[in-house]
Amino acid sequence: MQRTHGLCNGINWFGYGRDDQTRAMNWDYIIVGAGSAGCALAHRLSADPAIRVLLLEAGPSDRSPYIHVPAALIKAIGNPRYDWCLLADPDDSRHGKVDLWPAGRTLGGSSSINGMLFVRGARSDYDAWAAAGNPGWSFDELLPYFKRLENSVLGEDSWRGRDGPMHVSRLRTRHPLGSVFVEAAQELGFAANADYNGERQEGAAEPQVTQRQGWRWSAARAYLGTAKHRRNLEIRTGFAVQHMMFAGTRCSGVVARADDGSIHNQHTYNMDATPWRMARNAAYWLFTGRGPASSPYPHAVAFLRSDPSEPEPDLQFLFGPFAFSFDERGVIPYLGPAVSIVFNTCRPATRGRLSLRSANPADPIRIEHRLLDHPDDLRRQLAGCKLARRLLEASAFAPYMRGEFLPGPAVQDDAAWIEHIRKTSFLGYHPVGTCRMGSDAEAVVTPRLNVRGVEGVRVVDASIMPSLVSANTNAAAMMIGERAADFILADRRG
Ligand SMILES: Cc1cc2nc3c(=O)[nH]c(=O)nc-3n(C[C@H](O)[C@H](O)[C@H](O)COP(=O)(O)OP(=O)(O)OC[C@H]3O[C@@H](n4cnc5c(N)ncnc54)[C@H](O)[C@@H]3O)c2cc1C
Repeated sequence: MQRTHGLCNGINWFGYGRDDQTRAMNWDYIIVGAGSAGCALAHRLSADPAIRVLLLEAGPSDRSPYIHVPAALIKAIGNPRYDWCLLADPDDSRHGKVDLWPAGRTLGGSSSINGMLFVRGARSDYDAWAAAGNPGWSFDELLPYFKRLENSVLGEDSWRGRDGPMHVSRLRTRHPLGSVFVEAAQELGFAANADYNGERQEGAAEPQVTQRQGWRWSAARAYLGTAKHRRNLEIRTGFAVQHMMFAGTRCSGVVARADDGSIHNQHTYNMDATPWRMARNAAYWLFTGRGPASSPYPHAVAFLRSDPSEPEPDLQFLFGPFAFSFDERGVIPYLGPAVSIVFNTCRPATRGRLSLRSANPADPIRIEHRLLDHPDDLRRQLAGCKLARRLLEASAFAPYMRGEFLPGPAVQDDAAWIEHIRKTSFLGYHPVGTCRMGSDAEAVVTPRLNVRGVEGVRVVDASIMPSLVSANTNAAAMMIGERAADFILADRRG
């Protein structure tokens, strides 16, 4: 599930609202939304000076330490200046819990507020897309795009890109307990994996992050950093596209409204308790690009099977040397010394729904989750909780642990675990699939990402995924932008 970013070609846009001026201009391509896929697409299309590209972003520029200092992401998530701060409807499968549904609203889109973990997904995810009627989307066909987008020192040349715009790095400062987690996994019989974006995803590993020298490397920094100086690329922030205009079935333009500036930054109350530490960490980060301020959440990652009979890893574990909870206000860190394991089901069976409340684009969309609806998902959550406890009880962790805070030793039987899961689980931020691609009549877009039934509009973002990949979705979203650029350029050439 993802907001739709229409790509209209050979058309006009009309901006209104700012200074009460109405402007009409002509472009070859208008990209709506400067998110992960939109930035990749803008970069590739505007590489040809003959192609005029307009990139419209509803949110503001990304000039803020909340975006660029990795650990400050807790100030960006739930912050209405940079986050759409949508709220899901109460989830009946979790005692009516209401989730904050964060989505980036700035240059770089969600890649500017995300957790920076870089995971491509499993070969089988993409092979399943191709098998479902999407020629050209198998893993082997997509590998060149994954390589093209990244600049990484990790892994082997046959699997990894070395000179793409997106920097993928190791953590600059890795907490010592990160490697203890990998040891604990090995103690339980799981393999260590030197590169989960290489030949094989399974196993426990050091995290790979979209950072450069300790700075967040969002899709905006990666793809617009140099492209923004191109004369044929115009980037407008603060312009929310309201609707598309059609001449018959052909898209003839978009109408965008300038932000009226009425959204302010709101304070949350977390972390302000120790301002001197934040100041010290920020200063250290500024001079060295290292230390806690360079840190996203995970310091170890593992793709594991909930049961040996599973054909491939079905759970993704993240280990962090700090602990937090989420509610509809955003991230709430615990103040004492604590570590945590967060895990998610790789290919959940439960499906959510996005729908419009009205035809007014300013009305928030309706988000309906029933995250634990499908018994397979609940079963996997149960297995994951038990495995997380075993990992933290492994002897590798023994010298560091004083005890289990949540859920605590009282939770032992399945019923108690399930109650805990229903009360405390929260959503992962990887919604996809509202504009599924496919060759069947129900698919919204074709395998070349054209919207069925109209001309001149493509959807290029995470919403076209026919199914969720076994990964965080930023890498796949940028790959989709890269792939779409080639479709468009090939169609231009005829
Ligand atoms: C809090 C959070 C943490 C995450 N952590 C990770 C992680 O660690 N690793 C990972 O791989 N993935 C992560 N993800 C997911 C990943 O970042 C997204 O899947 C990916 O960025 C989606 O790319 P996209 O291009 O589809 O959309 P986005 O990047 O969300 O871009 C959409 C853009 O369109 C703009 N827009 C929307 N409507 C309009 C309009 N009407 N007019 C103009 N502009 C508009 C938005 O403001 C936004 O900038 C996370 C996501 C979130 C929210």
